[in-house]
Amino acid sequence: MSGWLVIAGLGPGDEALVTPEVTNAVAEATDIVGYIPYVARIPARPGLVLHPSDNRVELDRARHALQMAAEGRRVVVVSSGDPGVFAMASAVFEALEDAPLWQELDIRVLPGITAMLAAAARSGAPLGHDFCAINLSDNLKPWAVIETRLRLAAQADFAMAFYNPRSASRPEGFTRVLEILREECAPERLITFARAVSTPEERLQTVTLAEARPEMADMRTMVVVGNSATRRVGRWVYTPRRA
Ligand code: SAH
Repeated sequence: MSGWLVIAGLGPGDEALVTPEVTNAVAEATDIVGYIPYVARIPARPGLVLHPSDNRVELDRARHALQMAAEGRRVVVVSSGDPGVFAMASAVFEALEDAPLWQELDIRVLPGITAMLAAAARSGAPLGHDFCAINLSDNLKPWAVIETRLRLAAQADFAMAFYNPRSASRPEGFTRVLEILREECAPERLITFARAVSTPEERLQTVTLAEARPEMADMRTMVVVGNSATRRVGRWVYTPRRA
């Protein structure tokens, strides 16, 4: 039995942004586990079993992957971007906490290009100084925690990258986020809305906080808020390296 489990990031969309290490793991795999649209990115081939599953079943998915690896299969759990950023790697370790027998398995986490970095690179260098990343989804944390972190990060003058900014089920959350930013930051603060980065639907838009509207974001958008020194240079946005 020489099963293993790899938790891999597929990057933001473009196949050229998948690392060779991840491509090699997929080539050796017997099973691919993940959310439906991410598994759909893996080409079918004889001997490879695809296990697509719906969103919000992360822990079941992680246990299933661990079980198959324990049975000797070579399993790749796929996430978009990086698997450690609001994705499956933590779910696998959460499943491992309850399963001491599985803790001896051959498990590796392979990094990927996270959406925040792909979006930042497209617009210039908005994350060139200190920054933080905040998941705006309140599926797994109370909304009050999001508001506190957001307000304190703005007060500390971090640039900020928002994942899962505006879901169809809770669109008012992002409206509230813009209100808090307006309380804490000047109206000239630059915000980039980067949608579907590195895919054919890619669209980038940089506006001031005064111009920002909730409809500019959806679940395929990264929102990158500059710090107080973030500025435009030509068609680019960058944050100086000095505070
Ligand atoms: N593990 C992923 C993030 C999962 S959370 C990563 O590291 O990128 C899903 C959120 O990521 C989306 O709601 C969106 O905010 C962002 N995202 C993922 N792919 C994106 C892309 N190609 N362009 C813009 N944002 C993206």
